This record gives sequence, structure tokens and C-alpha cells, in this order.
Amino acid sequence: MVGGAHSTGFFLYGFSGMSIVVQKFGGTSVADRGLILAAARKAIRAQLQGHQVVVVVSAMGKNTDRLIQLAREIHDNPPAREMDMLLATGEQVSVALMAMAIQSLGYEAVSMTGAQLGIVTDDSHTKARIQSISADRITEALSQGKIVIAAGFQGVNERHEITTLGRGGSDTTAVALAAVLGAERCEIYTDVDGVYTTDPRLLPEARRLTQISYDEMLELASAGAGVMHNRSIEFAKKFSVPIYVRNSMTDARGTMIVADPESPHQPVCGAALVKDQARISLSGVPDRPGAALTLVSSIAAKKIAMDMIVQNVGEDGLADISLTVCRDDLPTALKAVEEAASELDAEAYDHDDDVSCVSVVGLPMAEQSGVANKMFRALADAGINILMISTSHIKISLLVSRESAIEALQCVHEAFQLERAPEPRPAESVPARPHGPASLRPARNSNGVAIVTKMQGMEGLIVEGITLDESQARVTLYSVPDTAGLAADIFDEIAAAGIVVDMIVQGHSVEGTADLSFTFPKEDCATAVEVAERIAKRLGCHGVTSCPQIAQLSVYGIGLRSHTQVAGQMFESLGAAGINVEMINTSEICVSVVVDARQGAKGLTALENTFREFIL
Ligand code: ADP
Ligand code: ASP
Ligand code: MG
Repeated sequence: MVGGAHSTGFFLYGFSGMSIVVQKFGGTSVADRGLILAAARKAIRAQLQGHQVVVVVSAMGKNTDRLIQLAREIHDNPPAREMDMLLATGEQVSVALMAMAIQSLGYEAVSMTGAQLGIVTDDSHTKARIQSISADRITEALSQGKIVIAAGFQGVNERHEITTLGRGGSDTTAVALAAVLGAERCEIYTDVDGVYTTDPRLLPEARRLTQISYDEMLELASAGAGVMHNRSIEFAKKFSVPIYVRNSMTDARGTMIVADPESPHQPVCGAALVKDQARISLSGVPDRPGAALTLVSSIAAKKIAMDMIVQNVGEDGLADISLTVCRDDLPTALKAVEEAASELDAEAYDHDDDVSCVSVVGLPMAEQSGVANKMFRALADAGINILMISTSHIKISLLVSRESAIEALQCVHEAFQLERAPEPRPAESVPARPHGPASLRPARNSNGVAIVTKMQGMEGLIVEGITLDESQARVTLYSVPDTAGLAADIFDEIAAAGIVVDMIVQGHSVEGTADLSFTFPKEDCATAVEVAERIAKRLGCHGVTSCPQIAQLSVYGIGLRSHTQVAGQMFESLGAAGINVEMINTSEICVSVVVDARQGAKGLTALENTFREFIL
């Protein structure tokens, strides 16, 4: 079953009428005495400007890394509970020093651990999710004129065991506190000037964005933009918290993360890289509905997020499935694979831990053709081979060898001219996107101040909708040679025939060839088949199959990838209804599958039943 149902409970509380600002300082921003004092002054300044101030801090400098190193020197695979006990100390040091710094400057401050902040999480040590926050203690201290210094990254489960939220999790603490307190804004102070088109430490030509949408930031963060913890953006979107990402050392303007940015709309707003990825493939799975996807469920059950999931049903009726996980998760994921392989009677499984995933993200790409082609061409021109392809409405991800990863990122960044500021968009050109679900926004008093002291189910799954699209057709090319540049050539030829491709999926190659599937408007089926057959003949592919109409079922929501169980639940529910999944793509805001057109309505009902309790 999918984790706890989302429920919110609002408890009215007396309020002071002042607006609340949450400021978060990352590790490098509190790395020494001088920096702590500088951060303390920022908090005091905000208080002097008339705000109640909550400061969230991370462990100083590289302290968390050091603690992890210490643990590894003692134990090869440190138990997760003890790891949390250890890691939480990093933040405890920082909050105490920050409170002392503020007091040394003559102002009142009080430090609080996760437990004292009332942050209750689930039981997943080292990857815990926030379930509820009881903010009474914070609001009481604020009303006494104190600056509250909150330990980031930590909480306690219901049995008072210390938990942590996953690396980079202080951002999530900050945005969650801002949400529960109804803060006017959440300021994230870090060591760069804001959110860039890609990591400015990898590509100096990266450009700072003045604004970015929650959806795009969520995808970029999941695709590797480590500047924000992806789960913090889930909170921001759900509870409409405006975020300002700024440099703690300068007064640079920073980046605003909001529901509907005013900035120009480019098809691609940024590119990101997850350098340390691992691919896992299971081949020769007897093809009964849902079989290969058992693998996804078993990995999801271990709370491991999967980035690319690519399934191909071969001509021989045996399915192959490949997916990628973060390299650190590989040992645990492989245990799940072993179990799934024997359960499924699969012929073989293998993995490659020397791969990286390069993605581009942009909301408008769904309405524009040629975005994927441009990305393929950029890599082709650099002679970089694409190992796997997975596209969604907001993101295109390509798997490449780790040694070519930075070059791939650079080529893609250049191809989309991300270093250049785009033209301003005409005011009426882009419709406003919906804001976070209204029902989740904290109630506010007439001064705009939240009147909430406790919210439950905060990080619970939210499904915003489930759709069925029956307007498309599919073509699959079997055994396409695994050569750099071929994807670019194929999709250029398809585009030249006037076909606007929606979803593209290319699996991992076996014996030098890979299967490639794509969807497009069904009116174009005859032309697409003709072009595909021409390409197949020229390249010596094994053949082409097509389906004149397919059904695309999509589940929309918030944080669907990080709620690892969603993909598994979807496949299980379709499998149980006897429906075979032909193609898959996943992103944080949407998971889509392609099934036989005759199964569309049945699939929709199955998914609605599965996700009923999470639908807003
Ligand atoms: P903090 O300790 O303040 O939380 P992090 O190291 O977690 O800081 O995040 C800031 C770092 O994120 C930057 O130093 C930068 O290298 C990296 N980064 C990755 N992608 C991006 C991006 N798109 N924009 C800005 N910074 C990025
Ligand atoms: N200190 C934790 C880490 O290094 C949390 C954070 O910095 O956000 O991952
Ligand atoms: Mg961080």
C-alpha cells in the first residue's frame, strides 16, 4: 500500500500579527565563527525589520561528511538508527553556536533540536519523511521576542527515536517550518548566488535564474541540481511557500522559486547531472502483465528512488527492464533485484555502476517539438553515445558513461543556449499555472499570519489527477545499433516527416543493439511507420512494430518519484487488472504509462481505485 493518507489538521492558535520569516543557512554558510556571526546579523536584521525570525542551520562545513567517515571507520555498513543518532549531532552543534552568537550580539535566541521543534517523522532512518510538526513551542518562543534557531535535517519518530531526512535535508526542514508557520517567505542562504541553469561549479558559463517555478525546480533538484533538497520543493508547492535562494556572503539578488514565474519562458530552463548513477537490467522476463515491473516494486519497497525506468517487450515475448538508481543505493537495490529475478524466472540480470544521467528540464517543452532532437544532436556532435533514453512532459533524461558526463552536460547547456538570457515573454503568452492545492495552505489572519500550530500528513503523497489520453500511436524499432549519433539521425528524420514525437524510450543495449519506442499523434501513424521502416532497413534493425492507437495513462501529483512506491503501485494495479505496460516514463510531477488502447478505460478505473485516497 502507498504510505499514510494525506490529512491536514489545523489547530487554531493565538497570533501576534507579525509576519514570520524563515532563514536557512547551509553548512558552508556556518563553517566558522565569522560566518556564524554574519548569519546571526542577518537574522537580527530581519527581526529589526519587524519580522519574527526562525533560523534553520545545517552542520558546520563538512561536518556531516566527517561523521559519516567516522562511522565507516568503525562499521562497514553502519546501522541506520545509530547513523541518525550520530549525524543529528552535527546540527546540534550549529544551533547552539548560532544561539550563542545572537545572544553575544545582544539579542534573544533559543536553539531547538528536531524533537523540541515538534518535528515528527516516519520510521525510515536516514531517509525519514516529516509527518507532522507541532509548532507551539516555536510560536511561544517567537511571541517572547526570541529568534528561534532550529536544527535542520532532523526529527524524531513516534517512539522518540532520532531520525534524519536524507542528505541536504535542512532545506526541507526550513520549508516545512515556513509552511506550518505560514511564513511570508523562506530564505535559503548558501554558497552560490542562486539557482543557475546548471551547477556553476561544473560549468562556469551557467547563468543565474531570477525566478523558477516549483515544478521545474522540483525536477531539476531530482535530476541532480543539489542546490535545493528536492523534497523541500514538494512542501513549497503544496503549501505555496515562496523561496528565495541567496548567497550568504553577498547581497546578490538570488533566485525566487514560485508557482508562476514572471521570467521568460524557454523550452528548457536548466540542465542537471547525476554523476554517480548505476544501471540495473533484468532480461528475459516471461511476459505476463506486470511481471518485469515486479522489479520496480521490490526496489521501491526499499525506499530507493529510481530515475529512469525503461521496459521493452521483445519480439520473442520476453521482456527486458532497465532502471537507474543512485550509485550509493546499488548494493541494497541489487538485493531486491536478486529476489525479483528468482521470483520472476528471469534469464539474467546485470548492472553497470559507471554511468551518469544528464537531464534537461522545462515546462514548456511539452508544447514544443524538437527539444529531444536538439539534445540528441548535441551529444551526437560530441561523439557521445546515449546508453538509455527516457522522456517525460517536463524532463528528458539520457544515460551516458561517467567519463563523458561533464562534456555531455556542457554540450547540452550550449545547445539550448542556456548561458544567454532569453527575451522577455509577452504578458499574455503563458497561462498561469495552478498554485499549490488551496486546501493545504495554512489559514491566515487578517494580517496574513498563519494560525496553524499543527499539521499532519505533511509529506504524504498527493495525487492531483489521473488522465487517459487516447490520441496517440506507437512505433517500436527493434535492435537499433548502439552507435553514437543514431538517435539524433532517427529523430531528425522523423521530425523532417512532420511528426511531433511525444514520448521516447530507449532501453539499455544488449549485444550491441537496443529497442527504441516512441509515441506521436495517431493521425500520423501511416507516415511514421513508413519512415520507421525506411530507417530500420537502412540500419539493419530486426524490424518495426506499430500500434495505430495506444492509451497513455498518467498520474499527476507532487513528488511522485521521491514517493518511491507510486511507480510500483501503478504497475501492480495495472498488472492485477491484466494490463500490460508497453512504455513508462517518470518524473516528480507525472508518471505515465502506455498500454493497449483497448485497455485504457479499464486501466483508468484501476488507477483511480488504487490512488483514490490520495486524490485531492
Ligand atoms: P548548502 O550547504 O548551503 O545547503 P549545497 O552544497 O547543498 O549548499 O548547495 C549549494 C551547491 O549546489 C552549490 O555550491 C553548487 O555547486 C550546487 N549546485 C548544483 N546545481 C546547482 C544549480 N543549478 N544552481 C546553483 N547551484 C547548484
Ligand atoms: N548536514 C546535512 C548534510 O550535510 C543536512 C544539510 O546540510 O542540509 O546533508
Ligand atoms: Mg544543501
